[in-house]
Amino acid sequence: MQIIKTKKEIRELAAAWKAEGFSVGLVPTMGYLHEGHKSLIRASAAQNKKTIVSIFVNPIQFGPAEDLKTYPRDMQRDAAACAEAGADVIFAPEANEMYAADFTTLVEVGGVGDGLCGASRPGHFKGVATVVCKLFNITGADRAYFGEKDFQQLAVIKRMTRDLDIDVEVIACKIVREADGLAMSSRNSYLSADERTAATALYKSLLSAEKIIKSGEINAANIEYEIKKIISAVQCAKIDYVKIVNADTLNPPEKISGRTLIALAVFIGKTRLIDNLILEA
Ligand code: AMP
Repeated sequence: MQIIKTKKEIRELAAAWKAEGFSVGLVPTMGYLHEGHKSLIRASAAQNKKTIVSIFVNPIQFGPAEDLKTYPRDMQRDAAACAEAGADVIFAPEANEMYAADFTTLVEVGGVGDGLCGASRPGHFKGVATVVCKLFNITGADRAYFGEKDFQQLAVIKRMTRDLDIDVEVIACKIVREADGLAMSSRNSYLSADERTAATALYKSLLSAEKIIKSGEINAANIEYEIKKIISAVQCAKIDYVKIVNADTLNPPEKISGRTLIALAVFIGKTRLIDNLILEA
């Protein structure tokens, strides 16, 4: 698997592919790849002649007290995963290659970027939108693949491409879960055995909320209360947020109807995990 470290080289490679009439898919990641990432790579490889996987732990999307320094990294294993899933090249720049020392331009997506994780992690989506905008500009990809695991991120990227007229098709991919329902995440590697067991409460609480909604409950506060009750019963869990919102606007309704997103962020020990479920209410 070829690993490219400079913007110039990946830009030239992607341009050469496009000049040959090849479609180019981009899968932006922070590495430490798992089956969730591989599902995105497979989707890109199926729909495009060429697939670029970017692996970049983007410093500007981490808060000062967050896990930038400890974020798991394993380029050798990632290269094997990319090859196995059908990628053509990895773009893995260093931070000083991505950002000039006097870099000052940021992309801010209002509205869909404000609530949920945007409220808990100030500046996070500015960092995400900026790096993804740069990756779109560098690669000129025709299609880009994002997981619904980070549902709000996907909404932010879709809004950014629409608002800034970026010529890329943003494609959403379903959440890939472990056998017991835990959404796959690079951060799951932080969990101790006990925490790993405790983490199953997240998806369980979402399923239980879905059941309550299917049985006719439409009051968002009541459903959020039930989810919080399940998660609070787990000793090492601390809720960051549990929110029910409209899946298109990400605004909270009092009474739910239509395409609805149940989103949550929970600390299991020191590890912050997110999960969500989309349903038609
Ligand atoms: P990350 O490396 O965590 O920044 O994630 C890179 C991309 O993979 C994002 O678009 C994520 O939404 C997606 N992704 C991460 N985990 C999963 C998962 N369990 N299922 C599907 N997509 C995922």
